[in-house]
Amino acid sequence: MRYAKPKSIDEALALLADGSWTLLAGGTDFYPTQGNRPVRDDVLDLNGLQQLRHISQTDSHFVFGARATWTDIIRADLPPAFDALKLAAREVGSIQIQNSGTIAGNLCNASPAADGVPPLLTLSAEVVLRSASGERVVGLADFILGNRRTARAPGELLTAVRVPRRPPPAIRISSSLARGAISSSRSPWRRPASSSTRQASCRMSCCRSAPVRPWRRGFRRSKNGCAKLVLRVMSPA
Ligand SMILES: Cc1cc2nc3c(=O)[nH]c(=O)nc-3n(C[C@H](O)[C@H](O)[C@H](O)COP(=O)(O)OP(=O)(O)OC[C@H]3O[C@@H](n4cnc5c(N)ncnc54)[C@H](O)[C@@H]3O)c2cc1C
Repeated sequence: MRYAKPKSIDEALALLADGSWTLLAGGTDFYPTQGNRPVRDDVLDLNGLQQLRHISQTDSHFVFGARATWTDIIRADLPPAFDALKLAAREVGSIQIQNSGTIAGNLCNASPAADGVPPLLTLSAEVVLRSASGERVVGLADFILGNRRTARAPGELLTAVRVPRRPPPAIRISSSLARGAISSSRSPWRRPASSSTRQASCRMSCCRSAPVRPWRRGFRRSKNGCAKLVLRVMSPA
């Protein structure tokens, strides 16, 4: 087993290009996944990469560095479009878990119960993946392929999650799922609402790994296997 804690992204990418590494961020999914077994993988610890711990803005995007924690997100000065993401952040584990767990870890772990996924999907989030050979940007909907499966290639590091600066107008819908009764994300969902159709569509990450039963009117299976919930909403007009 090898252990490395690079200090720069370039150093991390060079290591990733040379061998198979398991990435470690906050460790809140990594360690529970190990169970009682000793760690045998080569571990690339991302906690030396200060450049990845930020929440910033460009002309076109809000950018969450991969190591931005849920506490960072809760405390960040963000516009109301991010309220659902902040609510999701407060749902993650406990304060200790929110202090360690990162946005990238939540997405790369690709749990069907990941609380960060629904609000980020509805904000049209994209992930930035870097490798020694370059950078690519992938829509979150295309990044998460299924239960614990993502489109990340072995030599790639998720460096940031970005959200367009001008997300379309949104509505907030409270989920009726009982957290104690089902292990699923229950963050309020947001989705652009069209005043002409008076409809909004939502994606629920918690339904990706299993077929969605039409236990409530309005659920449909979409082409990529996501559950789609079509709701009638009050239009402002
Ligand atoms: C007690 C407890 C309660 C929890 N409750 C919740 C909850 O309510 N809701 C919820 O959504 N989650 C919950 N979690 C899960 C976890 O806290 C979150 O998913 C967290 O965001 C994971 O981030 P991390 O930095 O700890 O990831 P890690 O455990 O470090 O990594 C998770 C995975 O992502 C990969 N990875 C991490 N960073 C990168 C990167 N930059 N690029 C590529 N791959 C990367 C790792 O290799 C690993 O496969 C809970 C965990 C615990 C222990």
